[in-house]
Amino acid sequence: MTSKVLLVVIDAATPHVVCPAIQTGRLPVMHRLAERGVLHTRSVTMFPSITPAATSTIITGAYPAEHGIAGAAWFDAARQEVAYYGDDFWIILREGFGHFINDFLLRLNGDRLRAPTMFEMIERAGRPAACLNYLVFKGNFAHEVNLPGLIAALPGVPFTETVAGPSMLCLGDFVGTRTPHGHKPEEQGGVLHRFGMDDASTGAMLKDLAEKKALPDFTVAYFADNDYISHKVGPVAALPVIEQVDRMLGEAFEAAGGMDLFLRDTAVIITSDHGHCDILNDPAVVIRLDLLLEGFRQADLGRAWNPKDEILICPNMRATQIYVQDPRPELIERIATSMLVDRRVDQVIWRSRLTGGSTGYTVATRRGRLEFTHEGAPGNAVDDHGSPWQWSGDGDALGLEQDGRDLRFVDYPNAFERIAGVLDLDQSGEIWVTAKPGCEFEVPGGKAHVGGASHGALHALDSVSPVIMAGGAAPRRLPAAMRSVDIAPLCMEILGIPMRYRVGDGRK
Ligand SMILES: [Zn+2]
Repeated sequence: MTSKVLLVVIDAATPHVVCPAIQTGRLPVMHRLAERGVLHTRSVTMFPSITPAATSTIITGAYPAEHGIAGAAWFDAARQEVAYYGDDFWIILREGFGHFINDFLLRLNGDRLRAPTMFEMIERAGRPAACLNYLVFKGNFAHEVNLPGLIAALPGVPFTETVAGPSMLCLGDFVGTRTPHGHKPEEQGGVLHRFGMDDASTGAMLKDLAEKKALPDFTVAYFADNDYISHKVGPVAALPVIEQVDRMLGEAFEAAGGMDLFLRDTAVIITSDHGHCDILNDPAVVIRLDLLLEGFRQADLGRAWNPKDEILICPNMRATQIYVQDPRPELIERIATSMLVDRRVDQVIWRSRLTGGSTGYTVATRRGRLEFTHEGAPGNAVDDHGSPWQWSGDGDALGLEQDGRDLRFVDYPNAFERIAGVLDLDQSGEIWVTAKPGCEFEVPGGKAHVGGASHGALHALDSVSPVIMAGGAAPRRLPAAMRSVDIAPLCMEILGIPMRYRVGDGRK
């Protein structure tokens, strides 16, 4: 049996806050869904656990090594420039709209995204799909970008452009497809509504399509506001934002004739791209990278290399990648040592061949150092997905425990697969660094979320999401070791369309 799928992504919905709210009925619609299906409280995201890369992982079912989106900031070697998507998508309000259209609409959903999206795979199979404000929308149909008058007049903004998305693509005020009933989803644009890409607009479009029974086989609805608010006030104080999403989902089901009718032919899956780790309300939790690395010649922030530069820093909130122009073993070790002087730094991670190893990855911490590789199977250990690994050193570096051959990651879930999942990318920095819980990286011009919340690191607080699933042809259970790379294979399985990955497959 197959059915339609509605995939709802709530940015930064954090299980340690959201799951108790579901279980105690404070989010009554999600509570009813969970009663009719399943609630998984600990689905593991990818690394770096940050929106552009994490939303790309959900929609492609791939790690960054395959989909090419290396976080929120990385060095694009082909263009010799820093790809920068900011700590959240609304950086566009500061960076200008020419930047938004070129970097986000055209490049992130163009050549920077290397793996096929579900929109592409599903519509290639002849089944229609819709995107409601989801950031990663690459698809098989050209859509014209409409620029709101004020924006079109700004210098540097291209006059007209087309983007490739699913047959139904709704991106705020920028792209709007008419639904099959000739109705254009409600418009609520302008700066206050982030140009129609806020939760209220997504909710209104979803309700409209549900009411008209116009939802296609596959729909992704994206609710961004929670990330935006939770960064400022933390996940507990941001819960009213998720209550509002819960209400809007309830209204969409009611418009379709009630939840039970809706669930008869549609599987609903609700998840988030990453969690939020509270950032302590104390300026001492901000790690200034430029100062910590002042012993090295740094490329100008956000700029390409000059010949004399040694390192190029790309902050990703609670993670950072450091590119090294001439990565000699001695220089890599010296950078790691300089970072680990700081007690707020958690892991420093690099490919072992940079310091004389042949394969695999090195993780250095103040608690000790470990090395691991997936080459030379069968290795001495196996992860939850059946992938073999060979590792040695201090398990404490990644909160690692081992029972027989079985690996157990306590504080840094699925760390081996996730580290490999970004370091294997050609565009990855030579070195990745993470911050301890409660702390965040910053460079001049940036702004850490002191007293709020942030993410990006390997820690469970950044890296787990809830998954609620019910209705349609949804399976009765989810794997205990659920991951965000499993969301796409799960959707494809419910739709009855083959994909190169199955739910639970080891990725190494
Ligand atoms: Zn996010």
